[in-house]
Amino acid sequence: MVGLALAWSPVGERIDWSAYDVLLRANPPASRNSESLILAIDEESLEAVGGILKVRESLARALEILSQHKPASVAIDIVLAEPRTPAEDTALEQGLAATPNLVLASSLRPSGDGWEQPIDRFKRHAQSLAHVHAEPDNDAVCRRVLLAKASARTRLWAMGVEAYRAAHGLPDIVESEDEVRIGNLSIPSLLRTDRELLVRYLGQSGSIERLSLSRVLEDPSSAAVARGRAVFIGVVALGGLDRYLMTPYADGSPMAGVEINASVYETLARRSFLRPISASLAFLAVAVGALAIGLSFWRLSGWTAVAAAAVALLVLCSLPWLCFRQDLVFPAAQALLPGWLCFLTAGAHHYVGVRGRLQQAEEQRGRYQKAVHFVTHEMRTPLTAIQGSSELISRYNLPEEKQREMGELIHKESQRLARMVEMFLSVERLSTGQLELKREPIDVDALVADCVERIRPLAVRKRITIDVDRSDAELMADREFLDYACYNLLSNAVKYSPAETAISVRAAQQNDSVLISVEDQGYGMDTSDLTNIFKKFYRTKRAQQSDERGSGLGLALVEEIVVQHAGSIEVSSEVGKGSRFTMKLPAPGQITGSTK
Ligand code: ADP
Repeated sequence: MVGLALAWSPVGERIDWSAYDVLLRANPPASRNSESLILAIDEESLEAVGGILKVRESLARALEILSQHKPASVAIDIVLAEPRTPAEDTALEQGLAATPNLVLASSLRPSGDGWEQPIDRFKRHAQSLAHVHAEPDNDAVCRRVLLAKASARTRLWAMGVEAYRAAHGLPDIVESEDEVRIGNLSIPSLLRTDRELLVRYLGQSGSIERLSLSRVLEDPSSAAVARGRAVFIGVVALGGLDRYLMTPYADGSPMAGVEINASVYETLARRSFLRPISASLAFLAVAVGALAIGLSFWRLSGWTAVAAAAVALLVLCSLPWLCFRQDLVFPAAQALLPGWLCFLTAGAHHYVGVRGRLQQAEEQRGRYQKAVHFVTHEMRTPLTAIQGSSELISRYNLPEEKQREMGELIHKESQRLARMVEMFLSVERLSTGQLELKREPIDVDALVADCVERIRPLAVRKRITIDVDRSDAELMADREFLDYACYNLLSNAVKYSPAETAISVRAAQQNDSVLISVEDQGYGMDTSDLTNIFKKFYRTKRAQQSDERGSGLGLALVEEIVVQHAGSIEVSSEVGKGSRFTMKLPAPGQITGSTK
């Protein structure tokens, strides 16, 4: 949308024009002899006749010579609005009278109100009057003409149109919303754009055949080239130009108005019309292109995404060129700006996303490495104890007391090992749905009391008090897992609290849920810790630096257990003040199954 807004701004308009000019120059119409001819009042002619003010007698002579060679039509691009000397005007009038299919120019008054017309004695010999009004774009380049222009209630057709009509002997011009029809020539030109027509210039100045006025006067037979052609007469001498107009071809030097009128004629005669593509179609194409770019980055990854998006961008950016080959003008800025903006923003988003995922993967790998380290380290200790003790028992004849002690040690350590292995497997199996819950009615108070009793020796060692609130709540849950979850929260509270603090355990039935919360006055955690503690193997810095043993697996398993029971777990914590973990489980009547 930003790209489209830019495309519709003056910047976009400039881009459109530049691209149009490049495409127009790159796609010239097929080269063949021009159907029109310019009788050029050039520097040489002006010098010969003594300046533009004295041109009328020479023009009269040239018209008489021309008429002998039967041109299809003659259009004079000089506004003959002022009388000169009677001799000059009489001569010109005779010349005009001898000219068949004559079109005379009218120009818009400088005030913009009404037309400057030829004086009556000239006008009455003309088949029609035509406007020679130019409508350059804001960059002063004349890319289009208005086929018809109205002022002061008089509507005139452009000189190229009138010359065409006169040359082909066609009386009527028929108009509809989207075209102007002269005989069997249909010109695509919309009424709502004031009947604009994009001029298909033939090329660099001079590709419409020119005949110099002075040459015709010197050698009348040279006018034979005018036979059957539409002749446009006008000033081309730079010094004598009344209108300086740039065209897409003019590289710094202006084109004479008469040549532009002749170019309009050529556009009609060759039927090489350029049509602006409809706004809705252009919008649709841009939307599809932008979508393709977005989808490429969304669905694909890595260089494949970049390559696919680049192809979509390339297609979008070549639309103006592809359309131009079909004589359709696609606003280039509408393809380029949204296309590139989409590519860059979607690409940047993709890049950031990939970086993020990479970072996550690295973090995960880091955590697994820690886990492996932990497992090898933690498992080695009990294993070494087991190996050492069993070796001693088998090798030496130890006193019974010692044997019993070692047997107990082996038993304890092997239990620790088994617990550790069990926990690893449980997290994995629970999260992949391989473990089924064995639901049974549970008295929450009894379960909490049992856990508290088991943790009490540890708490006593740290002189931590545990306060329990009874609730009479009941749950339908897997006893073993729920017991594990409750015990884990309690043991964390004891592990991560300094000595001589208090822990309070509360169970309560609230609406359709049973809440079990464990609150401590421990070290607490900051917000970044809180977002991570449920991830496997995550331990806070503080926990890692403490003497407390841990795997970073406990809370991952607690969360998994709660989720499997269709519940949720919440935690609030403040560094230095303490933490509160609350498990929220559905009350017995509410159980509908797992949410995962
Ligand atoms: P661990 O085996 O490390 O205790 P857990 O998964 O049970 O693993 O907990 C993950 C981490 O969350 C702990 O290492 C600790 O940093 C933090 N944590 C858990 N409970 C508390 C608590 N009550 N107070 C402060 N930090 C806690």
